[in-house]
Amino acid sequence: MKGFANLEMLPSLIESYKQRGLFLERRNINLYNSVFFQHASMTVPFYKSFFNNTAQANPIDFPIVSRKDLRKTVEFTSNNFDKKDLLFKTTSGTSGVPLKIPRDPASLYSFLHEGFAEVVSRETVTSKLMPGKLGILFVDDLGSNSEISNLNPSLNYSIVRRVSIGKDYVRDVQLVKELRKLRIPILYGRPRALQALMKIDESTNGRHISPDLGLCSGDNLYSDVKNSLQNWLQCRVLNSYAMQECGFIASECSNDTGLHISQNIMLNVEAGAGERSSTGEGFAVITYFDNWAFPIINYLTDDIVSVRNTSCRCGYSGPTITEIKGRNSPYFFIDGSQFNPSHFNIIFENQMIDQFQMVQRGHVFSLKVIPGEVKDLDFLASYLKDELRKIAPLEQIEIEFCRSIATDSHQKVQRYVCLAFT
Ligand SMILES: [Zn+2]
Repeated sequence: MKGFANLEMLPSLIESYKQRGLFLERRNINLYNSVFFQHASMTVPFYKSFFNNTAQANPIDFPIVSRKDLRKTVEFTSNNFDKKDLLFKTTSGTSGVPLKIPRDPASLYSFLHEGFAEVVSRETVTSKLMPGKLGILFVDDLGSNSEISNLNPSLNYSIVRRVSIGKDYVRDVQLVKELRKLRIPILYGRPRALQALMKIDESTNGRHISPDLGLCSGDNLYSDVKNSLQNWLQCRVLNSYAMQECGFIASECSNDTGLHISQNIMLNVEAGAGERSSTGEGFAVITYFDNWAFPIINYLTDDIVSVRNTSCRCGYSGPTITEIKGRNSPYFFIDGSQFNPSHFNIIFENQMIDQFQMVQRGHVFSLKVIPGEVKDLDFLASYLKDELRKIAPLEQIEIEFCRSIATDSHQKVQRYVCLAFT
């Protein structure tokens, strides 16, 4: 790694330069300008027929769309773009079926580069990012051997380096030893990837990895995980709410006021019966202004959020997510009534357990557990069953100890999942 001397980064830099020009042009049009909505209503087949070929400028007139709707890729792709200029990205699909999303070059720039810049823009670490030096170390736990480094023009041309862990323990230990010697301004990854890195770091003699800032996205960052990461890294770890379809939707600053909404996003909440409002509690409904090839307007997600207007010391004022209440399936159904499984959290928040997932299928509750500091797994299994039953009358509990919870490496790991309750 020799910074600018590394010519391998040049082609991607030239590519991102082209994308950046298009991106800045697009941002020059006021994001909330009606042009975006007019473009969608006049060039996207679904909206063209919905509005009978008349231009619309007001988001409130656009219908709510679901993931199932957006799966009809052709219907939602603007015919103003040449297919060869679009990049098709497939999203993970927490709910099973992946979503194939075309991106235009400007939105690709936003997704790969500008999004990070906005998320960390409120933090002092931003001023320390130097051209050709490491800026963001992105840790992923997909276990592939590929290492990728790119320059980020939106972060003062600092380097975003992606490393992968989880396939070969000896190699992981070597990597940790190398990372300890580096100045890492921002350490970024899914909570479970940073937890995995922490485990390797803790079990290897010597001083710890010490970044200036931690940043998480991908899965829910639960408060106990956040605390343990902060204790280990000795720095702030900020949460963000992101999805493949729209990039960073909201992100925390270090003032603990919540997750501020990104400027390329309009977020509403749906509290039931199609009622939308800008604050309050309900399912997040998202409009994403950056991808004109595939305009995402009033996209109903499975995530339940609480939103209020804040004026924060970091300089942000506007809608802020104060709580993300479980994603997808926040409830179990026990004895015919709704049960909030976060009551179980207390059982799992101890040294014996690193990660877990609990899935309801009818009257069967399956637990996957990555054990922590414990030798006797039979003891742990009976302890868990006893404690769970003290809180709720669970009939059948199955426990599996494992090394990885995700069956598909791109999957979001939910702590509690309800697949069927009858
Ligand atoms: Zn703030």
